[in-house]
Amino acid sequence: MIHIEGLSKSFGSNLVFQDIHVDIEQGDCISVIGPSGCGKSTFLRCINLLERPTAGSVYIDGQEITAKGAPLDQIRRKMGMVYQTFNLFSHKTVLENVMMAPMQLQGLSKKEAFDLAMECLTQVGMAERADYMPSQLSGGQKQRAAIARCVAMKPEIILFDEPTSALDPTMVDEVLAVIRRLVNRGMTCVIVTHEMNFAKAISSQVIYMDEKGIYEMGPPAQIFDAPKRERTKAFINRLK
Ligand code: ADP
Ligand code: MG
Repeated sequence: MIHIEGLSKSFGSNLVFQDIHVDIEQGDCISVIGPSGCGKSTFLRCINLLERPTAGSVYIDGQEITAKGAPLDQIRRKMGMVYQTFNLFSHKTVLENVMMAPMQLQGLSKKEAFDLAMECLTQVGMAERADYMPSQLSGGQKQRAAIARCVAMKPEIILFDEPTSALDPTMVDEVLAVIRRLVNRGMTCVIVTHEMNFAKAISSQVIYMDEKGIYEMGPPAQIFDAPKRERTKAFINRLK
């Protein structure tokens, strides 16, 4: 479904990663782990072209999105993104946050958008909070609302950038449970995370990124229990 070929990114003379190759199949859950600053967020941002890769190609459903003139808006709608800091519109209710993009970008009527939004909020356990303002929510609730907003666009893939890193520890599990449910229902996901138990339980593949690219990639049993390369071992052992 997503084919990433020879992807490289530099900021000026700072080479962040080089020559990344990854294939993501429908229903995969790919976790990306690695030290801070190694390029995990930049990698996600290059997949949906929030950042222009310096070299390489990204294909989604066979369409090269890195090609000149590719219809970016249309392509980005296939990909949802969930951020560490939620990014809800603070002057709109939870319900309005979820209804907005389907109405503005997909032309749904108010009634259709309402029904869809309530369905998505129910999925994340937030239907009772539909009329709340973001400021009245806990961090975990805000993140669940942000996930509902993303799901309402019916993306083919969701990119999560440390979705639980800004949360009070007591709220991490409720957000992970929502993500786990999405994955179990077949949503294709790429998740940058420091929640190793979660990554181990949920991932089809784990990418360990280190300076300059993917250092080791494999099923969770390999990366967490029997890493093949030195720096992966050191990283995993430091967490134990
Ligand atoms: P991670 O998410 O793994 O912590 P990032 O992808 O945020 O790492 O950053 C990787 C590297 O790219 C860092 O050296 C960072 O300073 C650099 N970087 C990220 N975004 C930009 C940017 N917009 N301009 C310049 N350098 C950037
Ligand atoms: Mg990051």
